[in-house]
Formats: sequence, C-alpha cells, structure tokens
Amino acid sequence: MRGHCLCGAVQITVTGSPGEVSACHCDMCRRWTGAAQWGFEVPADAVTVRGDVGRYRASSFAERAFCPTCGTHLWLRDDDGPYEFVPGLFDGARDLPLAREVYADRAFACVPLAGEHPRVSREAYERDHPHVNMEVRHDQV
Ligand SMILES: [Zn+2]
Ligand SMILES: [Zn+2]
Repeated sequence: MRGHCLCGAVQITVTGSPGEVSACHCDMCRRWTGAAQWGFEVPADAVTVRGDVGRYRASSFAERAFCPTCGTHLWLRDDDGPYEFVPGLFDGARDLPLAREVYADRAFACVPLAGEHPRVSREAYERDHPHVNMEVRHDQV
C-alpha cells in the first residue's frame, strides 16, 4: 500500500497485509488527533518513508510523527516497535476492519464507534501494559 500526507511531502509505502485498525481514546490521543486515534500496525522492516518527518515524544517510550509542512499525523510508534499508521494516509486502508477500542471508557460522546469489537477500559489496558500511563496532564505542571 502507498500512502501520503495532505501536502504530499511525506510518501509512505508498506508491504504485506495491513491487518486491522485499533482506536484509542486516551488523553494523549484525543488531544493529538482532536477526538480519537486510529492506527494499524506494520512491522518496521515492511515500511519505507520518504520526505522530512517531524517527531514528538509525548511519552518516554513512544514517538508521534507528523508532516512538518502540512501537519498531517503519520504514526505512533513505541521504541523498536511496529509502526502504528494513521489509516487515512492510505486509500487502500478504507476497508480495514475495526479490531478494538482502548480507553473506551474515556471516549468523547461525539465519537461512538458501532459494532461488536472489544472495548478495553483504561483500567484494563494499564493493567496489561504497566509502563503506560496516558493521563499525563501538561496543564497540571
Ligand atoms: Zn505534508
Ligand atoms: Zn492513546
């Protein structure tokens, strides 16, 4: 699959089958995206990126990438982990199914996601991922 940002300065190619989409409603993802983050995982060795990419580390273990020209969000990636790409970059991602929602109990009322997929609460997610605490509040510093 080939994808690109809004202005076309960043071009991304992924090989292999792209799998399923997860949605995240944690504080960071809501703030970063406007409401909820959608992503599908691709192993790093299946990814080619062309163009300048901006990176922001909102947490100690992951980066969020964006196009410095147009601001399009590109991916969320744990250190040494797979890329978690924003589906909207890829026309070919249109039919990918929604596999699950995490931080489902934190979702804004304006983004109810229909379907019978698993809905993982903040408490359950952080129990399974003890290094994660997505409730960082910069306005409380
Ligand atoms: Zn761009
Ligand atoms: Zn999140």
